[in-house]
Parts: sequence; C-alpha cells; structure tokens
Amino acid sequence: MKSQSGGTFRITYNNWKPEEQKLREALCTLGNGFVGTRGAAEEKNQDEFNYPGTYILGGFNRAKTEISGRNIENEDFVNFPNWLFLSFRVEDGEWLDLDKFKIHYYQQRLEMKNGVLEREFRVEDAQGRQTRILSRRVVSMLDKHLAGIQWSFTPENWSGKVEIKSALNGRVINDNVDRYSALESNHLEPLGTEEINDDGILLKVQTRQSQITMAQAARTKIYCEGKSEKVSKVLTEKRGYIDHTLSFSVEEKKEYQIEKIVAIYTGRDRAISEPALEASKDIIRAKRFKNLLSRHEHGYQRLWPNADIGIIGNKEVQNLARLHIFHVLQTVSLNTIGMDVGVPARGIHGEAYRGHIFWDELYIFPFLNFRFPEITRSLLMYRYDRLDEARYAAQKEGYKGAMFPWQSGSNGREESQVLHLNPESGNWLPDNTHLQRHVNSTIAYNIWNYYLATEDRQFLSFFGAEIFLSIALFWASKAIYNKKLKRYEFHGVVGPDEYHTSYPDSEEQGLKNNAYTNVMAAWVLQKAVDILELIEKSRRRELLRELGINTKECEKWEKISRNIYVPFIKDEIISQFEDYENLKEFPWAEYRKKYNNIQRLDRVLEKEGDSTNNYKASKQADVLMLFYLFSKQEIITIFEKLGYKFSEEGIKDNIQYYRERTSHGSTLSRLVFSWILSKYDKEESWDNFQQLIISDFKDIQGGTTPEGIHLGAMAGSLDLIQRNFAGLEVGDDALWIKPNLPKNISKISMRVKYRNHWIFFSVDHTRLKISFEEGWSNKVNIGVVDEIHEFKHGEVREFSLLADTNSE
Ligand code: BGC
Repeated sequence: MKSQSGGTFRITYNNWKPEEQKLREALCTLGNGFVGTRGAAEEKNQDEFNYPGTYILGGFNRAKTEISGRNIENEDFVNFPNWLFLSFRVEDGEWLDLDKFKIHYYQQRLEMKNGVLEREFRVEDAQGRQTRILSRRVVSMLDKHLAGIQWSFTPENWSGKVEIKSALNGRVINDNVDRYSALESNHLEPLGTEEINDDGILLKVQTRQSQITMAQAARTKIYCEGKSEKVSKVLTEKRGYIDHTLSFSVEEKKEYQIEKIVAIYTGRDRAISEPALEASKDIIRAKRFKNLLSRHEHGYQRLWPNADIGIIGNKEVQNLARLHIFHVLQTVSLNTIGMDVGVPARGIHGEAYRGHIFWDELYIFPFLNFRFPEITRSLLMYRYDRLDEARYAAQKEGYKGAMFPWQSGSNGREESQVLHLNPESGNWLPDNTHLQRHVNSTIAYNIWNYYLATEDRQFLSFFGAEIFLSIALFWASKAIYNKKLKRYEFHGVVGPDEYHTSYPDSEEQGLKNNAYTNVMAAWVLQKAVDILELIEKSRRRELLRELGINTKECEKWEKISRNIYVPFIKDEIISQFEDYENLKEFPWAEYRKKYNNIQRLDRVLEKEGDSTNNYKASKQADVLMLFYLFSKQEIITIFEKLGYKFSEEGIKDNIQYYRERTSHGSTLSRLVFSWILSKYDKEESWDNFQQLIISDFKDIQGGTTPEGIHLGAMAGSLDLIQRNFAGLEVGDDALWIKPNLPKNISKISMRVKYRNHWIFFSVDHTRLKISFEEGWSNKVNIGVVDEIHEFKHGEVREFSLLADTNSE
C-alpha cells in the first residue's frame, strides 16, 4: 500500500527478553474482529513469561467463586484453546526453548501493513547444532475462520532427524490477570479430540456455563523445494489436548517449510452446520500458507487505504498512530459486522476487565464513524439487542425506560464486579463503580454522532431512536424535583472519576448531582425532542405508542432539560458533585515524594486505611469531559438553556482547577486533557498527547498493558489527531475542517467518509488540500475555517491557512 507519510508500518524488537514478553504479546496480538490471539512464542506453553491467550468477540462465560463468605459470580472473557503450539527438536535433543538454547540472533517484527507477526532467530542446542527459523503468523483478515503459522526452517550446520510437534491445547484456564487469580478460572469443558486425516487434528471444547462450543482443526505439513516431505507421525490425545509429532530427515543448509493451518469455528457462527464439521472441512480444503497469506493481505489492502492517517514531521507519532489503528482493526473489523458483539475496552488482547463493554465506545466510534461506519452500526445494534435487559434493570430500580449497565457482557445485565481486589493491600472491597449511569448518555451521544457522520436515517428511525428515547425516559423518571432550588437532581450516581463513589464516612452508595452526569442527562432530554422530529412520522407514532410517551411526557422532558441542577464551587467553577468543595485538598507533593507512581491513588490510600473519597483528587477527567464532548459554543448553549451563565473564561477556570487535582489513573484522562488544553496551553496539551500515544507501547501504568491494550485511549488518540489536530467537525450543514496542528507535526493527511462521500484531505501549517474523491451525490459541502465551499465530484482544491490570506 502507498504510505501517505513515508513512515513505517513495523514494530521491531531486536532481542528475546522473557520479562518483556507479556507486554510484547499484547502489542503483537493478531486478530481479525472475530478471533484474536496474543503474540506469544508458539514453541512455549503458558508459563511465568508466556501467555498464549486466544479470545473470541462475545466469548463470555460466567462462574461463581466464594470470597469472604460470599458467593460471587463474574462473567469472564474466556481464554479459548491455544492453537499456536509448534516446536521442534533434533534427534534426541531438547525441544526448542529460547530460555535454554544459545541465541545467536533474535528479531521479532509486527508487520502492520499486512498483519503478519514475524519472529526470526538462529539458535544452538546443547550439542552445538545451529538452526535458523523464520516464523510467520497470520490471523486471516479475509477468511475469518483461518489462521496459520509458517516456519522457514534451516539446519545451519547439521543434518539428521528432526521432530516437529504441532498441538491444539484446550487444557488452558484464564490466568492473564493476577488480580483475578483467586476467582474461578476454569471455563472450558473438553468435548473431544479426533485425528481428521494424516495431517489433520481436531479439538472440540465448550464453555461451561454459556455453552459456546468451539472447534479448532489444524493441518501441519512439511515442504522442501516446493514438494511435500515424507514424514512419519505419532498422534497424542489427552482430555482437551491433541498433537501430531512429525519426524523427517533434514539436510544441512536446506530450507524446509513447516506449515500449520488452523480453522476456528464456534457454535454461534453464521452460515454453519456444526463447528467441528466446518473446521475440518476448511483445513482439508485449505491451500498452502502462501495462499492463505495472499488472501489475508487482500483483507488488509481493503482496510489500510481508508484507515491510515499520514503524519509527517514526527516519526514516533506516525508509527504509534499506525499501531493504534492496527489494534482497533484487530479488535473490530469488517468481519465484526453482523456479529452480536460490542467492543471490549481492553481489546481482544487480554483478560483485563473481562472483555466487558464500558463507555469506551465514546472514544472508539469516532475513528470508525469516519471510515467504517458499518462497523459502528453493528456495534450499536449490540445495545439495541439488549434493550429489554436494560428496561428490566430500570424497572427493577423503579424507573421508566432503559438503564444500560456500566459493564456489559453477554446478555446486557450489569457485569461490574461486586467485589474487587486491591493488589496493593490484598483487601477485597465493595465496588460501587456500577453507579456510572452516565454510560446511558454515552450510548445516546454515540447514536447521535453516528447519525451526524452518516445521515443514516434508516438506523435512526428504526433502532437509534428507540434506544435514545428509552434512555430519555430513564433520565426523566430518575430526576428528583428539589422544591427549594426549583431544580431537578440526580442522586445515587458515580461520575467518570471512579475515585469518588460515596461521601466520606457514608454508608450510602453513590453521590448527588455529579455535574457531568446531570449536564449529559440535560443534553439527552433536549436532543430526544429533536430526534422525534427527525424520524419518519409513522415510526414516531409507533414508538410513542410502544414506549408510552405522550405529549405530557415530552413536556416534562422539556421542563426537566431546562431545569437540571448543576453545582458550582464559585463563579463558573463547576463542582464535580454536590459538596465536593467540602472535601479535603490532597497533599499531592507529599505523595509524589513518597511513592514512585500515584496514578492509582485509590489503591495507595486504601492500603493506608484512607480513601480517595475524602479528597479533592480525581482519577480522570470528570467535569472536564464536558469540554471534550462539546465545543465552546455548544457548551455555552447547553448552560444557557439550563439557565446558568457560562463563558469561555469558565472553561479555562475549570481546566485550571481540575488539572491540579487529577492523578490520571486512567489512560483516557490524558486524552481528554490533551484535547481540552489544545486551545489554551499547547505545551501541556502536547505533553499529555505524548503520554497518551506511548501509554500502551511503553506500558506507562506499569503492568496493565500485558493484560490487554486500552482501546479507548488508542482509538481516542486517533480521534484527537483527526478531529482536534486536523480539525474535522461535522456540522448540520457541512463537514468542517478547522485545523489546529501542533507545532511538533508538520502535516496530516487522511481519507474520511462523510455521509457516503469519500474525501481526502491533507493539512500543514499553511495549506489545506481537499479532494472530493467519490460519493453518492455529485456535490458535497465542505467548510474551511469559517466559509462553506461546494465541491463537485472529483474536484481538488487548495486553501491557504495563513491568517491574513484566508482564502483559496
Ligand atoms: C476507567 C473507565 C473505563 C474503564 C475501561 C477504567 O479504569 O476509569 O473510565 O471505562 O477503565 O477502560
């Protein structure tokens, strides 16, 4: 693919470093939006440094564990059988082990352009025999059920008999996250193994509670000079495990191709008879690895031209932006469309947060909306299909409409853990973070922004509106009227800042009037009325009847939306929640001196017998989220409608107030700070961006990335580049481009899809070039800085961005 920047599409590691292996595994995970497998060493089973996890989107299983006398149920992201295992030994020597063999050379490359993980090494066993291996691994982006490994195997200084072991191992548990180790981790029930033919093996398992069946079939063949080698084979079968050990003779300096082609199916797949039948059929039909690879590369060729963001003037940012794009596409891709799945906050790369779906979609969808809106649509359907469960949750708490869970998994019930472990203190603590009802507004906001980017009225009328209105019903029924203040309030909630889940020394869960929650609820209620106007009349009638919304209810929404209470500390400084100002100031300097890392202040304080609830100290942006989600004008209008005076000065004052009181215990926080500071303090904005862009690559939280990437932060960094740096903004009338390029980047270029039109644009510090490439209609309106221009099909135009010559 033509690179838009001249940068690379490669991550390289030049040594074998076991202690870094789990981080590299997460960062070298290969997936295709259906299945994902960590970049573990194929010749190793799970051990202290090697964790070969395989996950399926939507692959959940529930299990109970007794903790502190309570029977706790968790829904986990199941680690499915390891299909990777491939190893060799010479004659009676030792099996390949990089920790024991002498390593002459080792390099690992993640080739992001075509989604290939390469490992190249020359090793020497105890007998002095040197062997060179180039390992290439794919999880096919085009044939979503297929994956494979090819070894180019060269005996450098020996000839003789060699054995290759190729296994499918279902004797695995969930063991990627130390904090979860006391919890039930055995999720798989072996269903059987079978030798399909001379070179094929099959393993079948089932998740214990959710009864998702999975079949994996593997075909292992050896070739030399284009011909299949004669091998003798031994089959080993154990409960939940099967392997083929193949023996053959090799000659010094000759290159042999060892190919393992694997097919993976689950009982939940579409267009299948039964998983084992399909998997066996696939490996019988499969051609050689090079054919698998070439089709897989086609899969990437249809993604990158639309997905790439070219960045000139900063190689590090270019490469890491590509790593982030790559991992978004490993997690969700065109293969995800039509699957009944949401997007897990930690990708398909590890077991942290159990594959659950949080509000992180808020940060992930904007990248998809502008390139692959079909994927967003499918992921929004995940919410639509769980409306009934959300309705039940609302009803159970005495509310109307639908109340979506903070953590969502298989069927949409609340999956937040009831107790969580503080690894610092070893204590199990009640978890009140599920009270983050603001997730409902996120879902509504995502629907609206998908609609703005696509103008997909069909979706809005038939699915989006129903979710949106159900959420509006929920907020309206949760609002409590405060007669004294003559305002509506929301109680018993937690804001995005998870360090505050209740008042100091209070037994009651949750807080009153979290400002972010309240303003978002006001936005939902205001927008719900607009949405009713936008959709087809017949559908409106139908929805109003079905959801029980009458004129009185709409008037109530209107009234509540104009009178929701927002607490202020003084002047225009918003109080994160009611009575926040009465909390103690946190001694930041003292704690920064005392501890190396205070990002997770909650754990540090709990260990000391204290609590973040007592202090003005936030884990992440909370009030400041408002300036991230809405433009200056939008937020001023929202406050105006609420009857509060709010100005641009207010934005600055709030940033100043909360920037001193945030520990950035979530990677999402850096994103929000970088964004909101970009207009007021470019340097600090850039510092936050740098933290954001390296957060997973360098594992800045010290050990969280090995448990799964932070997809919200990864995709959010791309959104920051597209919407903040490049200045892309969808207005009601046009697609606007209002560049805000930091000085550390000289040029950004990308293709975006705006309401069925593909537009390519590149922007530097002085010029903006736009070409209207293709689309359904012959014209599109594009706003540049402050003027709208009509573009015709195929038209290319350049604009000067210099302040005094703000014209074409
Ligand atoms: C953050 C949440 C986020 C979750 C999953 C938590 O640490 O506080 O805002 O949704 O991680 O990424």
